[in-house]
Amino acid sequence: MFDTLSDRLGSVFDKLRGRGALKEQDVRDAMREVRIALLEADVALPVVRRFIDEVTEQAVGQSVLKSVTPGQQVVKIVNDALVEMLGGAETPGLDLAATPPVVIMMVGLQGSGKTTSTAKLAKLLKEKQGKKVMMASLDVNRPAAQEQLRVLGEQVDVATLPIIAGQAPVDIATRALQSAKLQAVDVLLLDTAGRLHVDQALMDEMRAVASISVPKETLLVVDSLTGQDAVNVAQSFAGQVDLTGVILTRMDGDARGGAALSMRAVTGKPIKFAGTGEKLDALEVFQPSRVAGRILG
Ligand code: GDP
Repeated sequence: MFDTLSDRLGSVFDKLRGRGALKEQDVRDAMREVRIALLEADVALPVVRRFIDEVTEQAVGQSVLKSVTPGQQVVKIVNDALVEMLGGAETPGLDLAATPPVVIMMVGLQGSGKTTSTAKLAKLLKEKQGKKVMMASLDVNRPAAQEQLRVLGEQVDVATLPIIAGQAPVDIATRALQSAKLQAVDVLLLDTAGRLHVDQALMDEMRAVASISVPKETLLVVDSLTGQDAVNVAQSFAGQVDLTGVILTRMDGDARGGAALSMRAVTGKPIKFAGTGEKLDALEVFQPSRVAGRILG
């Protein structure tokens, strides 16, 4: 995760730390290298520009250059700016304060890891927060989708809504809500249809499901390996539905990290979880300060 970026920044900062005194030009040279490293990590250009401007402005200040450890101070400024870029020091978490069953609607493109992430999240809520969870697949487009969620439900030991062939997504959602109420479920996860691209019919379907199920959280699942495309997809969805957060999958294979670093700044939506592997416990709460720490080594 972030290996390439981490290596690049590591060598820039080793140089800075190695010198006793720093001149303004040293900082500007280092920032030029940081800029290239961020662009190579596929971070969106406007995000990189703002980052470099802000960091440079703070780092060339007299209090930094005249301090005893200017290199360390510059690294601290970069660290704080990275935390901001990744979403800020506060981890947003899930807002589940409502009368149960609290609905979490999962949306995303096909293949993004949406169904797997639904099961991972169900497991996490059950095991780490002691919630009674139910899952329902509303994906009637992909033949095996509902069965896939049922099998995953068995693996994580979370109930899934029994499948009734031929039922429309809005009707499945209605049935899921009734069933969740009857069974005193705390959190109902609705896995909406995956789509090959952002298409209007499925966006309308997603909005119809949202209007009857009134989700407290609407989480977009996107694949971090798709880089800036992931950010573009998030922007399209955010224009159609009230997204409350993003789950970024396949972070385990993402050496670059551009999607993670651009998402918040470009879309305004927080990354709430990171998928870090195929196993069903490979879902981490996304904590900007920990991620920044990992990047800066
Ligand atoms: P969907 O079409 O969006 O529902 O995608 P799936 O949930 O079926 O996931 C597609 C593939 O991606 C499966 O083989 C998953 O195991 C895999 N996958 C999902 N999330 C992750 C992740 O965070 N890391 C890795 N390495 N694989 C993942």
